[in-house]
Amino acid sequence: EEERSLNFIEHIVEDDLKDGYAKKDLRFRFPPEPNGYLHIGHASSICLNFGLGLRYKAPVNLRFDDTNPAKEEREYVEAIKADVEWLGYSWDTECYASDYFEQLYNWAVELIKKGKAYVDSQTSEEIADQKGTPTEAGKESPFRNRSVEENLNLFEAMKNGEFKEGEHVLRAKIDMGSSNMLMRDPIMYRILHKAHHRTNTDWCIYPMYDWTHGESDYIEQVSHSLCTLEFLPHRELYDWFLDQLVDSKKLRPKQREFARRNLSHTVVSKRKLLKLVENGNVSGWDDPRMPTISGLRRRGYTPESIRNFADTIGIAKRENVVDVSLLEFHVREHLNKIAPRVMVVLNPLKVVITNYTEGDEEWLDAENNPEDPSAGSRKVPFSRELYIEKEDFREEANRKFFRLKLGGEVRLKNGYIIKAESCTKDEEGNIVEVQCTYDPKSRSGSGTEESLRKVKGTLHWVSIPHATAAEVRLYDRLFNDPTPDGHKDKDFMEFVNPNSLQKVTGFLEPSLKDAEPGDRFQFQRLGYFNVDSDSSSENMVFNRTVTLRDTWAK
Ligand code: ATP
Ligand code: MG
Ligand code: MG
Repeated sequence: EEERSLNFIEHIVEDDLKDGYAKKDLRFRFPPEPNGYLHIGHASSICLNFGLGLRYKAPVNLRFDDTNPAKEEREYVEAIKADVEWLGYSWDTECYASDYFEQLYNWAVELIKKGKAYVDSQTSEEIADQKGTPTEAGKESPFRNRSVEENLNLFEAMKNGEFKEGEHVLRAKIDMGSSNMLMRDPIMYRILHKAHHRTNTDWCIYPMYDWTHGESDYIEQVSHSLCTLEFLPHRELYDWFLDQLVDSKKLRPKQREFARRNLSHTVVSKRKLLKLVENGNVSGWDDPRMPTISGLRRRGYTPESIRNFADTIGIAKRENVVDVSLLEFHVREHLNKIAPRVMVVLNPLKVVITNYTEGDEEWLDAENNPEDPSAGSRKVPFSRELYIEKEDFREEANRKFFRLKLGGEVRLKNGYIIKAESCTKDEEGNIVEVQCTYDPKSRSGSGTEESLRKVKGTLHWVSIPHATAAEVRLYDRLFNDPTPDGHKDKDFMEFVNPNSLQKVTGFLEPSLKDAEPGDRFQFQRLGYFNVDSDSSSENMVFNRTVTLRDTWAK
């Protein structure tokens, strides 16, 4: 791996190492909430945290931040694990915030005993009304000065299920006049009569994010708890909660922030992606148009291409939008190295080689990957009847059209030079067949003078009697706008591109018959494709991962 300059988080770690942290004290975590599938934004956080683990040979936990049973599901836990593994990372310990519910409860009781937490019995509206504004202090709750004993009794009764949702909350007793709104007696627990995917109905009070996160970091002895910038104002509260319990012999975690990554022409928010799934705009979380890790995987992206993308954009202190063409550049670059080349015709036009004997066939040598000599070669059949792409033939064209025109010559990839002699049209004037002659001495690789003859233009093609048909899915951007969720007056759903999926029938060279779901190829001159998970040997389905060139650079 190339040495690059340190990012600002690595500088923080380096400074801590100079200031007395031991290398063995370093520990990181990636903390997804299992309320949806991971997306390309998460990949940045995964590469950052696991990258730190690799750099410092430090453990990295996979921590499920599962404190909201209303939105979390086991399916999401499994999908998140599969995605992190697929990206190529292994975690030290699989942790769940829900494993700490008992500990967190006991610590909350401690806070009550120290007079630092109280049960508030107001409605959420009343509590919100008292919060004040950033420039104006909030009002204290009439329940703020309940006795410790009363608080302990009420909190226990909350835990025992004696109240309905919304009747009481537990709040930290901090400062209703703080300039940081989050310090104005934040809620630590709310009542939720909902079954949790792991603790089932053991609990009917659930801890809030701020109360849970830092304490979970502390329990796991995470040294650097990295989160996105919107948590910057939460840092003071993170520290306040830790101050209430930290044992000086134990390591005290540090929260540090980096900018959320956004990708153009899509949305990176689980909540918004869920809306696309529920609304049927896509077939599921792993629809190949989705910016989820599972969608990108199904689309044909490689883990390397996603990691290289994340490393290239690095991490930042300010939010911005990264153009999706950069992600496409990275997958193209990787697939160019590893994807075998094959010939497939997507928009067929029949070519008849009039001087080739009917019923004859021959199998030509075709190099699998010019970028990788070890990939070897395969045989492709040639016969009297072929398909080429419709766009590759014109009756007449100017000198810049380096494809087939009447009276002109082209080379068929891995095959012969052919010349277009005439063509046939249907009643509407559409060209339905081109009659060509071939030069029998011009076969590629045969070493003859004719085989070395230069003609402008090389076309991909398939032999009609040997070709198999398959469904090929061509994708366009899922959104018509570069920043669909960046409009004040319009919902992101208004920008969904109704034509983001086009299904066509492709004609494949026979070597593709044995391709399995997930296999990746370059369809020569057309782009990179992979076999979709919907594919079967009877009905093969391919996805276009990306075109060969950036057709969006306008
Ligand atoms: P979402 O809005 O999509 O639900 P989230 O931040 O609530 O995002 P989490 O499951 O809490 O999702 O995220 C796990 C980790 O990944 C957190 O540390 C979070 O800050 C980070 N993360 C999430 N989205 C991005 C992003 N777009 N860029 C960088 N890091 C991200
Ligand atoms: Mg979160
Ligand atoms: Mg979220």
